[in-house]
Amino acid sequence: MIWFSDLPALTNGSVLSMDQNQLITNLITDSRKGSNVEGSVFFAIKGPHHDGHLYIKDLYNQGIRQFVIECEIAGLSTLAGCNILLVESSIHAIQAIASAHRSNYNIPVVGITGSNGKTIIKEWLYQLLSPDYKIAKNPGSYNSQLGVPLSVWQLQPYHQLGLFEAGISEPAEMEKLAKIIQPTVGIFSNLGSAHDEGFESRKQKAEEKFKLFENSTIVIYCKDHLLIDEVAVRSNKKLLSWGFSNNADIIIRKDGNYFLISYQNEQERITIPFTDSASVENCLHCVALLIYLKFDLKEINNRIAMLRSIPMRLELKEGINQCQIIDDTYNNDLAGLQISTEFLANQHQKKTKRIILSDVLQSGLPDEDLVKKIAEVIARRKVDFFVGIGELLSKHKKYFPSSSTFFESTEAFLTDFDETKLQNEIILVKGARPFQFEKIVNKLQRKVHGTVMEIDLNAVVHNLNFFKSRIKPSTKIMVMVKAFAYGSGSTEIANLLQFHKVDYLGVAYADEGIELRKNNISLPIMVMNPSEDSFNKLIGHHLEPEIYSFKIFHSYLNFLDGRESTIHLKLDTGMHRLGFDEGDIEELKGLLIKHQNITVASIFSHLAGADEAMHDQFSKQQGEKFFRLANDVSSILPAKPLYHLLNSPGILRLPEMQFDMVRLGIGLYGVDPTQERIGALKPVATLKTFISQIKTIPAGESIGYGRRGNAEKEMRIATIAIGYADGFSRAFSRGIGKVLINGKMASVVGNVCMDMTMVDVTGIDAREGDEVIIFGKEFSIHDVANRINTIPYEILTSTSERVKRVFVAEGI
Ligand SMILES: *Cc1c(COP(=O)(O)O)cnc(C)c1O
Repeated sequence: MIWFSDLPALTNGSVLSMDQNQLITNLITDSRKGSNVEGSVFFAIKGPHHDGHLYIKDLYNQGIRQFVIECEIAGLSTLAGCNILLVESSIHAIQAIASAHRSNYNIPVVGITGSNGKTIIKEWLYQLLSPDYKIAKNPGSYNSQLGVPLSVWQLQPYHQLGLFEAGISEPAEMEKLAKIIQPTVGIFSNLGSAHDEGFESRKQKAEEKFKLFENSTIVIYCKDHLLIDEVAVRSNKKLLSWGFSNNADIIIRKDGNYFLISYQNEQERITIPFTDSASVENCLHCVALLIYLKFDLKEINNRIAMLRSIPMRLELKEGINQCQIIDDTYNNDLAGLQISTEFLANQHQKKTKRIILSDVLQSGLPDEDLVKKIAEVIARRKVDFFVGIGELLSKHKKYFPSSSTFFESTEAFLTDFDETKLQNEIILVKGARPFQFEKIVNKLQRKVHGTVMEIDLNAVVHNLNFFKSRIKPSTKIMVMVKAFAYGSGSTEIANLLQFHKVDYLGVAYADEGIELRKNNISLPIMVMNPSEDSFNKLIGHHLEPEIYSFKIFHSYLNFLDGRESTIHLKLDTGMHRLGFDEGDIEELKGLLIKHQNITVASIFSHLAGADEAMHDQFSKQQGEKFFRLANDVSSILPAKPLYHLLNSPGILRLPEMQFDMVRLGIGLYGVDPTQERIGALKPVATLKTFISQIKTIPAGESIGYGRRGNAEKEMRIATIAIGYADGFSRAFSRGIGKVLINGKMASVVGNVCMDMTMVDVTGIDAREGDEVIIFGKEFSIHDVANRINTIPYEILTSTSERVKRVFVAEGI
């Protein structure tokens, strides 16, 4: 138990005000995550792009009364009835508190680190051990300097085992995490290239990671990783190694489809239900831990055989009757429920929200307490309809709103639930594994016909943060979501951007803006090509037109007839596309003086060659001209409008010209449009399809329309379910295009057809139904674009709307 009065000693902080001592139950770091008020403490964190101190008043208004802050802010003394602690670093304070909390528990805790596999190993151990232990673990991959203390804070008196993973990107971080997790048992998964840049050498990285196990009684690792072995042996710790080499403690032999495990005098053949080497390695770490926990090898085999692969993410899918489905059918525990319901709460595309939830199994809490907790989480998220499935929820339905419905089992739901009730809703489907909720998702989702564009929402956030790190904190961001957000799905992307508080959205046409408004996007939106017939709609939906010529300005003024409106002025400084020229400025000023009903929100221009150094001199001239003309216009305005000039390549290459705002486009979607390929961006879109059929074609035969493909020798040909109508250009015909199948490149044979394409899979391990990647993380969109002499912009935006978009986000 930690009380507010304990914090000064734990954190070296000083109390600025103390109203009433409270028991601390809840640590909050994100002002957007609505939470319990009683016992909550908000930690204001000041980062390069975000300052938690700005939200203290909001939180106060929500009822929060305990704050830990890093600097004094104006108006603090006006907040009556608060406990306020001033510390040097709020993150260090949370770490210290979590560490003190951990020290109160005398239970086995497994600490997992390494470059890859941490989350999977942790989740599998959870699956393997939850029949025997009440377990606390990190939700998802909350393994950072902040994620770890928040995870460890969840430890409760009824827990019997902790499973915590720790991730680091620089030296000195692990010592802090070690003090928080205090693992009694360590697992070192492996050592790869991730975060190499933060360390002098791989060896230094291995040593740093090993610091997690400073006070562990034993460390489990794979002896075949020589660097890890070296560091482990030198540590003088008690070790339990496994490996394919003979000097490991647990010796593994591959034996056909089995793995022969030898430990001390026992041997057992174990079935691992995965074939890829990463999964096998992760499984063997689990085997080693179970051996350490004294499970019998036969029992280990039984349990390992039941492991399922872990979709470490939530998927947002199109459902029946205009619904959207959040597919989260892998597991269900209280921490995961927080994450998924928060994801649901952040989706504003649909007004009506519903949760279909199974019982939470093996929580360790008494039944009724558990149901109360679930009901609390649901109540906090303002859900319109709740559907509970399982005996436990059904038995305690009194804790849920009266609009809720209950079913004893998944089968009962599938037969009795009337799905025509679901119209235009967003539905979270979350269930523990034994409930087989994938059957529910199957029933409620619109069938996806093979070819999908997968959009990684975490990558979008990563890229947004990367661009924020490249500009001054005060510079605003307009994100261009024109052309269906560069093919990525405008409403979902806009919803995410709204949550992450960008300043503006930009679209090409009024209709694109209206679509966003219909999906509850309330950010200011600039429309670049407003047409006369759209003026009415612009006003009706609070869309702000770009005014680029006298013709459009006059017709807009006529239409307004004195009504007020906000506009954006576009100047042409050398792109020679749209915009007012230098010679127009005087007349423009005259019009603006005359029409005081017009508010100029911003003045902007566009660079013609921001992506290439050879044009830097020209870009600079554009910048200077822009500044001069914009100042001239502003001189007659009552308030200075925002100035903006830079697109994505401009932000990367010419940040000195960022003015008041930047216009981020393709970079958000993970494509670096410059030659520099900074490598820090994460690809957002993966276009994939599948193999419909495979044939062996004898030498001498032709393939496809116009008989343009020829089998010079016998060939294996796969027909894949994508064609030019999906946006797979016909220019990829006859060997120009390549696709990725099971890690191998396969060339297009013959002409691309409307809905299908034939590719050469001779010598590739490919089967009917296998996945085919057209572009994505593994096969960069730059390479794909180069093959047909175009640019990534065109490849991204030409994927047709008939290809379903599936949105994925980190989950569990
Ligand atoms: C599309 C567009 C952008 C964004 O360009 P990217 O190169 O995709 O970053 C910026 N400004 C204007 C005027 C645009 O039309």
